Amino acid sequence: MSRFISSKFNSLTPYTPGEQPQERKYIKLNTNESPFPPSPMAQRLARQSAGDLQLYSDPECKALVKIASQKLRIAEDEILFTNGSDEILNFAFSAFCDKDNPAVFANITYGFYKVFAEYNGVPYSEIPLKDDFTLDINDYIGINKTVFIANPNAPTGIALSKGEIERIVSSNKNNVVIVDEAYVDFGGESCTDLIHKYDNLLVCQTFSKSRSLAGGRLGFGVGCKELIADLNTIKYSTNPYNVNRMTMSAGIGALCDDKYFVTNCKKIKDTRKYTEEKLKELGFVMTDSKANFIFAKHSKIGGKELYLALKEKGVLIRHFETELLKDYNRITIGSDEQMQAFIDILKGVLEEMI
Ligand code: PMP
Repeated sequence: MSRFISSKFNSLTPYTPGEQPQERKYIKLNTNESPFPPSPMAQRLARQSAGDLQLYSDPECKALVKIASQKLRIAEDEILFTNGSDEILNFAFSAFCDKDNPAVFANITYGFYKVFAEYNGVPYSEIPLKDDFTLDINDYIGINKTVFIANPNAPTGIALSKGEIERIVSSNKNNVVIVDEAYVDFGGESCTDLIHKYDNLLVCQTFSKSRSLAGGRLGFGVGCKELIADLNTIKYSTNPYNVNRMTMSAGIGALCDDKYFVTNCKKIKDTRKYTEEKLKELGFVMTDSKANFIFAKHSKIGGKELYLALKEKGVLIRHFETELLKDYNRITIGSDEQMQAFIDILKGVLEEMI
């Protein structure tokens, strides 16, 4: 740290992204990326846009907004695209939290919420999940704070039903409830249509997982037009050209190629089921994941030991050092071939370790 850093940031602990190793080729099951390349249509449109990169991108993302609004059956002023969904989440912390409206989220959830709260200087509290990692919605009914809920949750993959989310939203009419649906396409129930019933609901989604565009950085939020206008105030005060031309075009391609999207989501769900069965046979217990990852622990081996042993053998999974999560690892669902290789290597590792 230099002696020049503002005092408002000198105790900020930044988010630690999952490893992106460049030196060795791993079977990479650690950052919930899709194992499938972007849709051919997305790739083609992005390539075409490369020739126009001398021009700024459309700050209103009009072409993308038009298609997304048709697909989601919402008005064009009810959606805002951002540089990954991390950006819309950050905007939501800036726009909707302050000392009178502190943020609240689960103690085990997406680790970035805490960082966004600290970065924006807003007070926040964390509500413990139950011992089985499920969330008790009663903890959030009428809480009168700005609620952030990942649904399905990370890193557990456990999902709340749409009815449960609706109860939280309807009981907090004077606060915004932000539902982060980064993993919803792998088995969760989306709440996007509830934005027409509740003016305090913001639903965020990403193209990073089910639409294979993690490297393109594209996310969005949907909510009533007044909420979206507030978020636009933050966007136009920080980075109006937050979505670049190639990503915008790739996003259009990804949205138009429904068949590719539906097929890939189904493949991930089928492979998740297969992998869960194999892990159970090998002595793992796991949460009921509706996401593109499995959150699992072995009764005889610590999470870190297993993570390190697999890394040594060329398989990367995600380990969290915190006390509540340290027995577990999060394993992204890759292609069938990747998961078979993972299971074969895991069997060898378990034989050596037990
Ligand atoms: N929400 C959750 C729950 C996530 O796990 C992630 C990805 N790490 C994000 C949001 C952000 O993803 P992106 O910025 O790639 O859209």
